[in-house]
Amino acid sequence: MIPYGRQSIDEADIEAVAAALRSDWLTQGPAIEAFEASLAQHCRSRYAVACNSGTAALHMAYAAAGVGPGSVVVVPTNTFLATANAAIYLGAEVRFCDVDSETGLMTSATLAAALRTDIGRRVRAVAPVHFAGQPCEMAAISETVQRLCPRATLIEDASHAIGGVHRDGSPVGSLGHSSMVTFSFHPVKHIAAGEGGAVTTDCPDLQKRLSSFRCHGMTKQTNELRRPTEGPWYYEMHAPGFNYRIPEMSCALASSQLKKLDRFVARRREIADHYLHELADIPGVSLPPANVLKTSAWHLFCLHVDFHALGRTRIEVMESLAGTGIGTQVHYYPVSLQPFYADRYGHTAAQFPGAMNHYERALSIPVFPAMTDGEVKQVISSIRHTFAGAQVARSIAA
Ligand SMILES: *Cc1c(COP(=O)(O)O)cnc(C)c1O
Repeated sequence: MIPYGRQSIDEADIEAVAAALRSDWLTQGPAIEAFEASLAQHCRSRYAVACNSGTAALHMAYAAAGVGPGSVVVVPTNTFLATANAAIYLGAEVRFCDVDSETGLMTSATLAAALRTDIGRRVRAVAPVHFAGQPCEMAAISETVQRLCPRATLIEDASHAIGGVHRDGSPVGSLGHSSMVTFSFHPVKHIAAGEGGAVTTDCPDLQKRLSSFRCHGMTKQTNELRRPTEGPWYYEMHAPGFNYRIPEMSCALASSQLKKLDRFVARRREIADHYLHELADIPGVSLPPANVLKTSAWHLFCLHVDFHALGRTRIEVMESLAGTGIGTQVHYYPVSLQPFYADRYGHTAAQFPGAMNHYERALSIPVFPAMTDGEVKQVISSIRHTFAGAQVARSIAA
């Protein structure tokens, strides 16, 4: 089975992890500093703070932005659960924003619509998600934040998008319009750490808050201590944090993977380019906008299929593709309609027409750097065959 995504591990990665295991440090050692330095360099950010998951990265970033009871975090409903849940961890409320039905992204228009009621003052963070690897239009989103909720911190969830580039040519992870950018290094994402995440920022104060939250809320900074003369063993805690530290083995793996990121993204782009050309003319199937070919990091290649017109359900199509060895997935059932959030806020599907339209047609097909040309051909021919079969079956039935 060709899965919709998977990691690429080579001997250099294995050697890097083995070296970490043979070293004196399994956690809190030199590998984390090395990884943070190379990630910051890649992102052209001043700092990177690594942690043990993308979820922890979001939790750290929201906490550093001052999110807490009484505040609101705005997130797109087309995302993974964690973008919203991290606000709940802090006792805050979530305001879900609809997305563009074609790209699946938060836009300045969907953000403005979500802020229409008078919650501007309570919004502490706005977290656009670079869904599938496509960078959101940050300049327009930032302008809307300034206008409608000027106290909010803009935090990008870039779990899908390391290696992508903004329209102005700056890498995803740089701080052009936002204060922090979060990443995930789960194996299905671009860089595998086993489990891992990070936050980039240019602000020294945020960097300190992120690092302290990662490690129980501890600080040893002399200028922050109430009892600075206590001694070198002494630390203080002014607010409880968590243990979100990432082990050295994971950092060593992530550093080794980061060296290959450009190659990984180039291969993803090459595969996307094949799909954009060779799946372009299938009736009832639309493809991601071709203008994102060079800017997207292509975490996902998400088809939009008019299953109704095709006369076959998504389950039937997925089963038929699975029968030919092609794994597919659906991203995402709107988070606002998850029972927890639907019950909490009384949400209905009708409130999120863009996200529902996106979700009902979505089908993610395999894209990952280790795919061979033969596998790409196999995916293309299976998809063409499956959809042509559906057309024929439908015309016979009619
Ligand atoms: C994967 C993902 C996360 C969570 O990352 P983990 O490393 O799995 O905790 C958050 N947001 C988005 C959009 C993701 O895809």
